[in-house]
Amino acid sequence: MVQDLFDFSGKCVIVTGGSRGIGESTAKAFAERGARVAVLARNVDRAQATADSLGGEAKAYGVDVSDEASVTDAIGSVVTDFGGVDVLINNAGITKDNLLMRQSVDDWNQVIDINLRGTFLCSRAVLRPMIKKRAGRIVNITSVIGLTGNTGQGNYAASKAGIIGFTKSLAKEVASRAITVNAIAPGLIDTDMTRSLGEDAQKKILEGIPLGRFGDGAEVASATMFLASDAASYVTGEVLRVDGGMAM
Ligand code: NAP
Repeated sequence: MVQDLFDFSGKCVIVTGGSRGIGESTAKAFAERGARVAVLARNVDRAQATADSLGGEAKAYGVDVSDEASVTDAIGSVVTDFGGVDVLINNAGITKDNLLMRQSVDDWNQVIDINLRGTFLCSRAVLRPMIKKRAGRIVNITSVIGLTGNTGQGNYAASKAGIIGFTKSLAKEVASRAITVNAIAPGLIDTDMTRSLGEDAQKKILEGIPLGRFGDGAEVASATMFLASDAASYVTGEVLRVDGGMAM
């Protein structure tokens, strides 16, 4: 019989920012492949609604990924409830765009704290349980903006480029424990985050996408699932663009 490399039956998968957008699509994709999914977000009611829609053993947890105590609590509860953790998807993220001259220190800090520090805190929190199992997969959701930079997104680009450096460093650090760490760099994906862009901005961005359309959350989810699966057992420290060719 051919082994299904994308079978996540019984595996515990944590998706931060799993309540909506790319995270929700990701949670759904893993649940459809048999995973027991922990949906993490600040708005626990919204996270609960997503977890309920997944069926199976999905559970919701309230967390602010930028807050050390909150992350320790939430991931500690997941490990207790599910008996360990097999996959962490660091997806929670925000934008606070402005030209640098007008960028407030608060907006700078918030984006770095949620996107970059959140990725560090959640990754650190799963390492012990993963090392104990001598197995694990971490997938960090960065952005093509972390590769190319973008006017008005200095804080966001810095946080996402930081995630790429972090991914490669951690990949080297935990490779001997059979844990892989990779990143996905989405381009323009149709979610709440991008719907707030004006029509003109959307039109301009579309002109720079060879495939000629925005991506869908499910298209990011399938690439993320590949990196978290047995099919990617020899892939670590990689950054996979899912961007319709935008940053090529
Ligand atoms: P979204 O629709 O705005 O969803 C963001 C998710 O993150 C929500 O579940 C939100 O829930 C959660 N979140 C935000 N701050 C949080 C915090 N401090 N603690 C815990 N959870 C938090 O965004 P999206 O477009 O799906 O983006 C998801 C990821 O993909 C982000 O990292 C983003 O940078 C990246 N990305 C998106 C695009 C795109 O085009 N959409 C492109 C490249 C990369 P709560 O608000 O309830 O906490």
